[in-house]
Amino acid sequence: AAKQDIKKYTIYSNGLDKHNPHHLTMVGELRQAIENDELVLHFQPKINIQTRSISGVEALVRWQHPEHGFLPPDDFIPMAERTGLIKPLSIWVLNHALSQGEKWHQQNFKLSIAINLSPATFLDPELPNLIIGMLSLYDIPPNFVTLEITEGSMIKNPDLAMEILERLTSKGIKISIDDFGTGYSSLVYLKKMPASEVKIDKSFVTDMLKNDNDAVIVKSIIDLGHNLGLKVVAEGVEDKQTANYLKTLGCDLLQGYYFSKPLSSDDFLNWLPKN
Ligand code: C2E
Ligand code: CA
Ligand code: CA
Ligand code: CA
Repeated sequence: AAKQDIKKYTIYSNGLDKHNPHHLTMVGELRQAIENDELVLHFQPKINIQTRSISGVEALVRWQHPEHGFLPPDDFIPMAERTGLIKPLSIWVLNHALSQGEKWHQQNFKLSIAINLSPATFLDPELPNLIIGMLSLYDIPPNFVTLEITEGSMIKNPDLAMEILERLTSKGIKISIDDFGTGYSSLVYLKKMPASEVKIDKSFVTDMLKNDNDAVIVKSIIDLGHNLGLKVVAEGVEDKQTANYLKTLGCDLLQGYYFSKPLSSDDFLNWLPKN
């Protein structure tokens, strides 16, 4: 298995290089994978820390590659972003996430579905109509749909980003600011954006019990988020102590391996508390 992993790593890390002979193969394979439904979505719950209930799930894409096995998004999303495949990939993700959300709603699991959008996808002027059109095809209320975007989307083209945000939120779609605290966090954007949620990047959460600076940053983001009227999510919560600490700091929602890894839709249904 180790040998297999090394091979996989070599191919796919080199695949990021346009001059690599594997690059073209990989781009073609990914295009095929999107058409042939070789992608799958896994779902990770967001837990409301006060009520201990599941407020929603985040959809995370994986590639079930016929030879190389299960590939995580970091192995192919960057390439998709550089080659324009990110648009068909995002449409695939949106369709499958909304369709799954519709099924859960029909089964009376009223879960919010969060979908990640890269800046290239988010800043596509066709995006609002595309999403609004898709929403009309699925029986799920728009306020149960959250788009997770990073500040990178705002920085690249703030005016276009604001226009897109306003168009989407006017339909009731929710916006979450992902990976907050990394990159070029700008308080100006945070204040202006019609977001309802901010997610503290897991790099701060992971070591917050050991590292005082990280704990201070986490606390500051929680207070800042609350002062701006946002719900605050901590991702990467791996143990009970961290969960309890975040609770005392007033964090609203928690996500991480301590509660559940991202699961296939079947496994997620089994994981859901039955009553
Ligand atoms: P992200 O949006 O920040 O997602 C969180 C990542 O942290 C996920 O990795 C998740 O599996 C992982 N994670 C969750 N809980 C824990 C934990 O307790 N500990 C640790 N160490 N990790 C945890 P994943 O699924 O490999 O996704 C990586 C990134 O790929 C995502 O980061 C997101 O930026 C991107 N991505 C995933 N799905 C999509 C998609 O459909 N579209 C786009 N554009 N990007 C996606
Ligand atoms: Ca995310
Ligand atoms: Ca994140
Ligand atoms: Ca990320």
